[in-house]
Amino acid sequence: MYDYDLLVVGSANADLVIGVERRPDAGETVLGSDLVVHPGGKGANQAVAAARLGARTALLARVGDDAHGRLLLDSQREAGVDTVGVLVGGAPTGVALITVDPSGDNSIVVSPGANGRLTPGDVRTAGSLFHAAKVVSTQLEIPLETVVEVARSLAPGSRLVLNPSPPQPLPGEVLAACDPLIVNEHEAKVILGEAARAGEEPEEWARLLLAKGPRSVVVTLGGEGSLVASADGISRIPSVKVRAVDTTGAGDSFTAALAWRLGLGESLADAAAYAARVGAATVTREGAQVSFPTAEEVAAL
Ligand code: ADP
Repeated sequence: MYDYDLLVVGSANADLVIGVERRPDAGETVLGSDLVVHPGGKGANQAVAAARLGARTALLARVGDDAHGRLLLDSQREAGVDTVGVLVGGAPTGVALITVDPSGDNSIVVSPGANGRLTPGDVRTAGSLFHAAKVVSTQLEIPLETVVEVARSLAPGSRLVLNPSPPQPLPGEVLAACDPLIVNEHEAKVILGEAARAGEEPEEWARLLLAKGPRSVVVTLGGEGSLVASADGISRIPSVKVRAVDTTGAGDSFTAALAWRLGLGESLADAAAYAARVGAATVTREGAQVSFPTAEEVAAL
């Protein structure tokens, strides 16, 4: 009876990547490699990751009326995402300007552009999408007031999955709607603020985060797997051992997979175990969206 397994509300960016021998100082010019442009942004990445797994997915986002916006719309449609909720115009498409040095370290400047213009009003206008989706997933690369409106717009019986990235302190109203809140170590520490003490174990962060109101919490620990926590208790979900080549996008594909499997009715622990396979498959390949696996590839892992 739902049209979509997953509605993703979030950012869509063009990632502009140039390799450099070293970064320029102020006032200096350096030469770099040929420019490579990838579709990215956490919202766009999650939607593509879910659709590639076979989830019926819609994206609510805003892009500019420009070539980068068209690139993002094309990559969503190619993956099978319904782009009826992608709004066009108001500002240039969001861009991440990325320089990569020979050691693989990135320096990134983000221009939120149209992502910063996705408003609470846009969320209200898209109300029918919320009624058509079993699970809604969002992140923090759009205005916080828009995320608050997302939390208020959930249809009865649907659930919110939030990856608070980039992290900032969250209003109680948003935390209370999360089921689950999905954080890595850095995000956990920012959300907990003073409450996070040095040397504490992820189990303790999960307990402290649960006390802030979410119905469930997932702490992702990279190659160490993850930890799921709810009123039923806390359990560790091991990672799948693979040769990691590039971890870009692992958090996005993990979150999208978990949200989809929860919508299928799986328990949090089972959904996290499936998501761990998706995250592991993602890190075996270079890039973000191009590295997301199909369900067949996950099964073969
Ligand atoms: P983020 O990118 O948000 O920091 P993580 O790095 O914790 O998120 O990755 C999310 C999930 O992807 C992990 O919980 C794990 O299941 C999987 N994953 C990430 N890195 C690896 C790795 N090196 N080997 C196997 N699985 C990984």
